[in-house]
Amino acid sequence: MNKKGHVLNAVLLSIGLGYLFVPVGDVETFKTIIMIGVPITLGALFPDVDTAFGKHRKTLHNLPVLLGFVAFPYVFGNLEYVWIGVLTHYVLDVAGSKRGIALFYPISTQEYGLPTGVTVSSKRADFVTAVVTVGELALAAMVVFELPQLVFELGRQLVGL
Ligand SMILES: [Zn+2]
Repeated sequence: MNKKGHVLNAVLLSIGLGYLFVPVGDVETFKTIIMIGVPITLGALFPDVDTAFGKHRKTLHNLPVLLGFVAFPYVFGNLEYVWIGVLTHYVLDVAGSKRGIALFYPISTQEYGLPTGVTVSSKRADFVTAVVTVGELALAAMVVFELPQLVFELGRQLVGL
């Protein structure tokens, strides 16, 4: 996907996540969208830096880079939420574009993509980007709303209540 697609994906995802985290739709929701939206959008732009430095869809499009961004806030105390942008970039490249990415680089140069992908120049690229974003938000909603209940139920069963 191109820069426009990644920004569209990151901004729509951030708005959706803002409403998921603070569903009231007031100033607090808006502040949350800005707080997570800026780092998510910057994170979503980062992987394609490998068009200039390294091998595109390999050097900065792999799981070790993502893990680095997940670990970064715990090690250095900043860059929270950037990993969400990197992750959504990968998801959009895998599910929304034809070529796929080398998830296990540098161990393997094999690129992984889903058949749902279209070419970057396709007229349907924006539509596919929107569909992928809706899918991500549905998954995020499940994690936010269903997972705590599931963990609670499992815990209850474990202690025999
Ligand atoms: Zn990319």
